[in-house]
Formats: sequence, C-alpha cells, structure tokens
Amino acid sequence: MRRIKTYLIIVNLIFLTGCANKAMPDTYVENYDYQYRQWSDSIAFPKVQQGSDNIVYIYKNGFIYYMEEGNDVLVPLCNKVDCLHDRETDQQKIKECNASVDLEELANINPDKDIAIAKCGDYLYCIPLSCYETDERILYRYALDGTAKDVVYKWDGKSSIIVNWIIHRNNLYYAEKRYYEEDEEIKVECTIKRLSLNTFFHRPETVYTAEENLRVLTWGNLQAYGNYVYFEIISMLPKEGDSQKEENNGYDYDRLYNKTFVYDIQADKIEELQIPDMPKSVHILGVQFWQDQIILDPYDDEKRGDEPMPVYIADLDGSNLKVLSEDVPQAGYFLSDGEYLYFFDDWMEDIDDWLRNPGKYVVYDKDMQIVDTFMTPLNENGRAQRFPVGDRNRMYFTYEKEDGTWGVKCWEKKIGEYRGKTITLTEIMDR
Ligand SMILES: [Zn+2]
Repeated sequence: MRRIKTYLIIVNLIFLTGCANKAMPDTYVENYDYQYRQWSDSIAFPKVQQGSDNIVYIYKNGFIYYMEEGNDVLVPLCNKVDCLHDRETDQQKIKECNASVDLEELANINPDKDIAIAKCGDYLYCIPLSCYETDERILYRYALDGTAKDVVYKWDGKSSIIVNWIIHRNNLYYAEKRYYEEDEEIKVECTIKRLSLNTFFHRPETVYTAEENLRVLTWGNLQAYGNYVYFEIISMLPKEGDSQKEENNGYDYDRLYNKTFVYDIQADKIEELQIPDMPKSVHILGVQFWQDQIILDPYDDEKRGDEPMPVYIADLDGSNLKVLSEDVPQAGYFLSDGEYLYFFDDWMEDIDDWLRNPGKYVVYDKDMQIVDTFMTPLNENGRAQRFPVGDRNRMYFTYEKEDGTWGVKCWEKKIGEYRGKTITLTEIMDR
C-alpha cells in the first residue's frame, strides 16, 4: 500500500511539474487566466467569473452562486442535501455550507467589500480579506460541483495584511503590506508575492519589494495577461533632504510617486512601464488588455480631466510603444471584452454635477473603427454606472435594492444597434 502511495505521489509530482514548466502563450487562455474582462477601475474586486460550458459564478453577500446562462437561476455552490445555504441562520451551519465565504465578524456590516472570487482550472478561489492585522488570512478553494470547500493556505496575519490578489495560470499573486517598527517609527513594507498552487507544499515567494520610505496610498491593483503580471503604486515620496522632517512630525512629502510595473514571469524580471519624453507630472496607472497588447493611458496631474492626451499601445512587456489615439480626454478610460474596445468618459469639474455628463460609451472594433455608442441606465443619484464589460456576449453585475435585498442584472450585448441609446439591463433573479 505504501509503495502504491509513493508511486502516485511521484507520478503526480512529474505531472504537476510538467504542467508548470510548459510554456504558455502570450494570449488569453480561457479557464486558466486572470479574467480581465470582469475588472473595471471602480470594481477592483471581481465578483463574477466565467466558467466553461456557459456557467457563470457570482459572489454576493457571503455566498458563491452559479448559474447556467439561458437558464438564469442562481444556485448556491453547495451540493449538501441537508443544507439551507443562504437561508440558514445558524452561524456554525453557515460555515459548513460549501458555498459560504467565511467573513470576519465585522465584515458582515458590508459583506461585499474587498471580496473577490477567481476561477482557475477546476476550482474557484477566494480570500476573505480583513482589515485587522491580527486576523489570519485563508485562501479557500471551492470545487465547481459544490462538493467541497478546502483551505489551501493560511497566513498567520501577524503584522501583515493582504491588500488585493489575483489568480493567474495556477499562481496566486498578492499585494502585501507588512508593518514593523524601526527607530521608534512604524514602517510599512510593500511586497508583491506569489504562491504557486501547483506544488504540494505552498511557500510564498517575494516577486517585488517597493522602495522604502514611501507613503503608500494604493498598493497592488494586480492584473495579468499572457506571461506578464501588472501592478501599481500610488504614493508620496519624501522631499529630498530631511531638514524639515523633524518640524513636520516626521512627515514631509511633496512628490507623487505613481507607477505601474510589469513582471515578466518567464524572465523573472520587473520593469516600470514608461512613456519616453513625458513631463514628471504624467503618470501611468494600470493597463488595459487589447489584441494581446497593453493600452497605456497616461494622466497629467497638471491638466484638467477633460484635456486631451495621447493614448499608447505596446507589447505586453511595454516595448514597441506606439500612439493608439492622438487626443483622448485624459480622465476617460478604456475597457475591453476581447472583441470590442470600450471608451468611457464621465469626467466633470464639479463632482456633484453628475447629470451634466452622465457618460457615454464609445465602442471600437479591432481596426479601431467606431462601431457604436451607448449610454448606461442612471442610478438613483443620477450617476451613470461604471461596470466591467464582461465577455463578448453579455455582462452580469449584482446590485443592492432599497429594501436591503439584492439582485443580478444582465446586459445582453447588441453592439452595433444602440446608436447612442441607453442599453437595457434585464433582472435575472430576485433573491
Ligand atoms: Zn450549503
């Protein structure tokens, strides 16, 4: 018996190592890659994941659901016959439900904040994040048939927090902040780490450590495509020379340090994404994926949001940079569903004046020809919705209702037919 087990372990090891070493293409690989189409700049924690065979997975309110497209009924991802799933009220029994996400107690006030789900291969993954340093972080793995919810990895949570994470080609990439004391000051170390899900013994490795002494405001916002991982930092850099430091209570920052980096997985190399000959006030924050390339949409802090800026396209590593469009209002942004490129702009000088520019989407095809324009339904405060554009056929999102319940809406795309009109969203299910 022991011999058979050892044999199986060796066979598995060979198989898994083989998978890990196989060169993957620099394109989007269905079922295996980070699902960039479910991301938007205002929703950095995707709650919808596309599965195979027209199955969609949706996170809402502490539970994971699945839905067959066309059938449009949300079912908790748990096959236990004696389980009430989201109708259960006993906290212990809720934990035992295969579809439940174990949220920290205080997170129940806002159970959707900072929760993301990620599908990779035969599993769905989730790390319920917590803002408390002392809480442990757990990477859970959900079987797609609802038969299991397993713990893949546990972080002890002592003095470090995971800020955001993605799963790409069987690797977890996460942005971590670690707090420590030095010279009677609390300092923070920001790292990007990787945890391979292919191995038996999980051990996080550091991919990148941010410069010291930054006052970090936003860290990570990870994305990935092909053999590349992207992350950004929004922070302040201390003034050169520290003569003023004492007087200002130790804080004396005056320069923005906003950068986007690209990690070449195969070469194990990190570069900052840059556009040559740009003034210091110009920053690149994040990328969009389009036709196996990246779109770089720079922002100049010294200009108004509606002023024009060129937009660039480059190879996935940032090389071969070309102008994609000469003058685009710089506060607008691009999203792509793989088939079409969407440009959305709702910038206004006065942030309370939402109705003056509710925002229009312009749709480009692969030849950068405008094929359609549309508006999105306004919500109660008059603001147009910004949402992920989903896959080429449809997009789903969850929303809260006034009575405290929630629902799922679907946009069945009919690109080419809107001609400036408002798209219609259909209600999937009232839960
Ligand atoms: Zn259940």
